[in-house]
Amino acid sequence: MSITTRAAVVESGGEPFTLSDVQLDEPGPHEAVVRMVAAGLCHTDLGVASGGLPFPLPGVLGHEGAGVVEAVGSDVTGVAPGDHVVLSFTSCGDCRNCRDGHPAYCATWLPMNLIGGRRADGSSTISRAGEPLGGHFFGQSSFADRALVDERSLVKVDADVPLESIAPLGCGVQTGVGAVWNVLKPTLGSTVVVLGAGAVGLSAVMAAALTPATTIVAVDRVAERLSLAKELGATHTVNAAEADLAEALAGITGGQGADGVVETTGNVGVLRQGVDALAARGTLVIVGAPPFGSEVALDVNGMLGGKRVVGLTLGDAETQTFIPALVKLVKEGRLPLHRLISTYPFADIDQAVRDMGAGKAIKPVLTF
Ligand SMILES: [Zn+2]
Ligand SMILES: [Zn+2]
Repeated sequence: MSITTRAAVVESGGEPFTLSDVQLDEPGPHEAVVRMVAAGLCHTDLGVASGGLPFPLPGVLGHEGAGVVEAVGSDVTGVAPGDHVVLSFTSCGDCRNCRDGHPAYCATWLPMNLIGGRRADGSSTISRAGEPLGGHFFGQSSFADRALVDERSLVKVDADVPLESIAPLGCGVQTGVGAVWNVLKPTLGSTVVVLGAGAVGLSAVMAAALTPATTIVAVDRVAERLSLAKELGATHTVNAAEADLAEALAGITGGQGADGVVETTGNVGVLRQGVDALAARGTLVIVGAPPFGSEVALDVNGMLGGKRVVGLTLGDAETQTFIPALVKLVKEGRLPLHRLISTYPFADIDQAVRDMGAGKAIKPVLTF
């Protein structure tokens, strides 16, 4: 018996999100039905909705869901009805990188999460009037009152923590925090530079503030975001609209350069400036995604001082251990995510999209 639910459907690239009744398929053995309580909006949702990625439309997006499990498939063991869950990306659990604890680099990552729109076996999870829709987005498609969720996207969390305060952990926050904790791993006295003070960049700033790094620099072109970055742990800020970035970073680091840089803007010009700002043995993490096919030139001799440039997906996190730890930090007030969040009723999703695009909301969270 299929479940009818209300979902935000994107009919074709560039069209708005419109609420529409859809039918969820019956849960497979490794799936669960989740009643959504909150869902974060991420730039990847907007990129797909604009038609910038080959995800099948009409379809249902949403990949930072948080809710309560209502029903589980026959082989689901990790969660039970009534459990609170944060939804994240899915993975096969069986390939080399999954087995090695790096599911964000799963061999099937792209079709299973971002562009396939179907289950691994090719069947669809959502339909409307008998026609299949694009679904299974990050194993969840959570812009809906109820979602059919892949078991590996489900992370059971502490039921005492309000779900609207932790929904963004599944993508944006995990990405920014993971860039610092899983890749840069700042050592005592080191310098971390975060390029771009959006949701991912500010998450990286908060994460850096929980390490022994002593200099944390936030860079953006919006003054209010820089003052927020300071409140969240940045020791220095650079307004790239006013100052020369290279000069400013040289001044802050005493000419030494940055030990770690997190690039969240997706702008290849900024990326190049970040690489040039690295100290010897410094690492730049690429988090922001420019359009497919983008390239960047590097000063090869400038790299010979042991510099590294590393790409990153979803913080390279093992979600089942990473997300519950972040929930604990949110609960204790040590990861003040609420400073990034603006909530909107689900029906106002298009207002949330506009506010995000206009830079008025850093991390919109839809509530159901
Ligand atoms: Zn995302
Ligand atoms: Zn895998």
